[in-house]
Amino acid sequence: MMKIIFLSTVVVSSARISASMHPHRLMLCPTRASLVKEIGDCDILIVQNNGFPYHVVDAEVLQNAKRLKLIQHYGVSHDGTDIDAARKQGIKIATTSGANSQSVAELGIYLLLCLAKKANLARHTVMEGRERDFLCTELSGKTLCVVGFGRIGKIIARIAKAFSMRVIAVRRILDAGDVRESAADISYRIEDLHTALAAADFVLLAVPLNKSTFDLMDRKAFAAMKVGAGLINISRGPNVNREALEQSLADGRLSGYAADVYWTEPVDPGDALLKDDRVLITPHIGAESSDALDRIGRSIRENIERFVGGRPLDNEVRG
Ligand code: NAD
Repeated sequence: MMKIIFLSTVVVSSARISASMHPHRLMLCPTRASLVKEIGDCDILIVQNNGFPYHVVDAEVLQNAKRLKLIQHYGVSHDGTDIDAARKQGIKIATTSGANSQSVAELGIYLLLCLAKKANLARHTVMEGRERDFLCTELSGKTLCVVGFGRIGKIIARIAKAFSMRVIAVRRILDAGDVRESAADISYRIEDLHTALAAADFVLLAVPLNKSTFDLMDRKAFAAMKVGAGLINISRGPNVNREALEQSLADGRLSGYAADVYWTEPVDPGDALLKDDRVLITPHIGAESSDALDRIGRSIRENIERFVGGRPLDNEVRG
């Protein structure tokens, strides 16, 4: 009998994942401290890193993990684990890449619409019984710059095209065939990020959080954006430099910031940014649809069966 631990603070997903794991028994660890206590005889660790810091599963946690052979990430990203430390111990890493792309992309489009239609301001105007004194923006004819053109970024681009938007893709690697098949009108390499930013009415981040994308949106990147442009972040909070964001809002250069992610989660309800009507934050719900949860549950279950049966894993993180 394998000991499988699920590191998660999200009640709704842990209930769903536990149910899909029968006959394996899942032990839930909702804190890093409980994980450290239980990891000694754990065979498989499932990590849902919402609410945990970058690399919550680090060398210190792993030093006691004498039996651990697989870290299966819940979702596409593996920034919850220090991959180098895990590899040193011969632990395999996998994700459920693709299982939540549609849900996250739809949330990205929702946040884009919220900025265009000034959702916070509209709601508060009604709630406070005020006269409407602002104008919204159409998406049609506007330019959307999607930074990170993987599974989620490509779906967002396709939906944006249905709104008659022009789409700029910013990517790590330019692959001519891939560019032709995608919905982007034009592609830039990440090295030319500032050129792409300057051309966009809306910028949407769909990149992983890694050493090269921390503070990707720094002071210089905000300065490169069009005056009056909006920023959407469905990646991770630290992809955006908070000080630079606040400055850009204070200068009136940035017209709005809509994000599903924050620098620390859950968000402190007293956080000053939340008082700004131009800022709209959702509580990391990108992947939290029942449809995505079903797919993620099946994908994790299937990978555990593969692991137990000695078969190659799906979505193994290599390199
Ligand atoms: P993906 O792996 O399919 O695509 C990521 C893309 O980013 C790849 O094309 C990669 O080449 C590119 N990339 C990597 N580093 C880059 C860099 N420095 N500059 C430019 N591009 C770079 O992943 P995905 O499924 O599209 O997910 C993207 C990200 O969205 C995830 O890593 C995660 O941070 C975030 N996400 C958020 C939620 C949520 O709930 N809000 C859910 C899932 C994923």
